[in-house]
Amino acid sequence: MVEKAKYIWLDGKFIPWAEAQVHIMTHTLHYGLGVFEGIRAYRCQDGRTAIFRLREHIRRLFDSAHVMQIDIPFSRSLIEEVCCDLLRRNGQASAYLRPLVFVGEGVMGLHPQNNPIRVALISWVWGTYLGEEGLKKGIRAKISSFSRHHVNVMMTKAKTTANYVNSILAKREATALGYDEALLLDIDGYVAEASGENIFIVSDGVLRTPPITSVLSGITRASILTMAQDLGIPVKEEIFSRDELYLANEAFLTGTAAEVTPIREVDGRVIGPGKPGPITLKLQTAFFDVVLGQDPRYRDWLTYI
Ligand code: PMP
Repeated sequence: MVEKAKYIWLDGKFIPWAEAQVHIMTHTLHYGLGVFEGIRAYRCQDGRTAIFRLREHIRRLFDSAHVMQIDIPFSRSLIEEVCCDLLRRNGQASAYLRPLVFVGEGVMGLHPQNNPIRVALISWVWGTYLGEEGLKKGIRAKISSFSRHHVNVMMTKAKTTANYVNSILAKREATALGYDEALLLDIDGYVAEASGENIFIVSDGVLRTPPITSVLSGITRASILTMAQDLGIPVKEEIFSRDELYLANEAFLTGTAAEVTPIREVDGRVIGPGKPGPITLKLQTAFFDVVLGQDPRYRDWLTYI
């Protein structure tokens, strides 16, 4: 259960959590046209709270809306400010922030031209997404029988609510079979991403991740690519098949919710030694140093509230 916070910001106002209700005729509830973000704020080592890559997340929110032809009736800077303000008002030192843009009530059907565009900002305390143990020892993943969206079927660069039905189908299938997470292949059969994370593998010392053609352009992914390059780790953005994944020395997932989570097994094949490998551990440690404000090189990735 999500732990209730004091306030939610809805359509320009802070209102009590329990009052943030919508009507059943809300268009997005019926047809799934909406865009959202997931952002984390961390309580840093010095006791202050910082939001990780807030600007990039809000930019992606507006980019998603652009792709989906939704005009957000607020400016990017206002949304950024409200994210900080919401955490302060909710007294949350570390939390997950969820901006959600959705189509309100008006006409029904598939052409909601003048329905109001509504914006909510929600924050709640959310622990490790794939479990503390998963973060430390690695998770078990399963290649899904569901493919990732084809780029001309859904807009994979847009973090749109409707895209996540595909993720839910995959996640349900994997967890029902006793796995922690689902990995989806693209329509050509190459490894794309997990249900809510990007994927990396290490093969012979090279860090590899699929190009963003059919996957979400993850902000954690981009951060890990920069940090790896700065650490002198060779990096390649290239497609790879599931057997290359089975044969990888290391594998891990990246995402705002999942952070940097090692993969120890895929489809019953142990990955490398079956525990987080050296490059994974190095990047995971570097990631937590950055988000906790311990690495001055990446200071401008943090917005202190
Ligand atoms: N892929 C999908 C499908 C996701 O939902 C997410 C989470 N937003 C990611 C990748 C990782 O993106 P980010 O690092 O920006 O959270």
